[in-house]
Amino acid sequence: MDYQAVLEEVAAHARPFVRQGRVADYIPALERVPADRFGIAVADIHGEVYGVGDWEVPFSVQSISKAFSLALVMGQSHDGHDDIWRRVGREPSGTPFNSLVQLEAEDGIPRNPFINAGALVVTDRLQTLTGDASTSMLHFLREESGNPDLAFDQAVADSEAEHGDRNAALAHFMASFGNLENPVPSVIEHYFWQCSIEMSCRDLAVAGGFLARHGLRADGSRLLEAREAKRINAVMLTCGTYDAAGEFAYRVGLPAKSGVGGGIIAVIPGRCTLCVWSPGLDARGNSVAGAAALDHFTTLTGWSVF
Ligand code: GLU
Repeated sequence: MDYQAVLEEVAAHARPFVRQGRVADYIPALERVPADRFGIAVADIHGEVYGVGDWEVPFSVQSISKAFSLALVMGQSHDGHDDIWRRVGREPSGTPFNSLVQLEAEDGIPRNPFINAGALVVTDRLQTLTGDASTSMLHFLREESGNPDLAFDQAVADSEAEHGDRNAALAHFMASFGNLENPVPSVIEHYFWQCSIEMSCRDLAVAGGFLARHGLRADGSRLLEAREAKRINAVMLTCGTYDAAGEFAYRVGLPAKSGVGGGIIAVIPGRCTLCVWSPGLDARGNSVAGAAALDHFTTLTGWSVF
């Protein structure tokens, strides 16, 4: 596969969609990102990386971090020996990522690890396992991406904390059901920090390589059992793109995780990991140009899982 040629064709296809949608503004620090940015990168399972456009420009990973926190929790506690799946479900929620409504009816157990409530439970578990959830994630991402300069964006973390009443409400509500192990202020702080990490398409495609390598890290050591990588990919496919996962499967047909910073990572198990970024979001919170690019990528290559 001539990845570079494919990416160039994909970028040309996505170009008219760039600037469509709205740059997220509910976290005010995200609003300053220019809407005309577009980048896409592919990292194959051997570590070769290809990219087009703004593929080396860092952006706020936001909810993409949820895929990594889940992997770190599963990697440290190995599925079956941990109660994480008693504390969070694996079904699409069909509600917005920050919704409170299901939690009450479902006794404080979030539907899946990729809505905010579920991600807070996962961060809480990572905090218990590591003693410093957000720093352990940052170290992991630096190692996997090979980029020692990755950092938190203090302005984004502060901005999110200042406007974080909804996330605080979710965390307190779950705590009232006994579904948090650590104090609410510490859980939300680590969650905001992990969301604030800045990475480029290149960094994310490389760092997410273990999902395409059936759980093997860049250095060949094992983060996850193959069955665990399979499960994370499955949850990404069914729950990774907000309440548009059905539409995303229909159009793209890959495990994917999006964030309100405009990034989306997508996995083709056994082949490669992709990351696309463009800040304009559709009404569900997914990058408009990013989704168009991934749609075109799987159409051109025939590499959707379907
Ligand atoms: N930090 C964001 C929030 O909790 C993440 C949102 C997202 O990317 O989905 O609101």
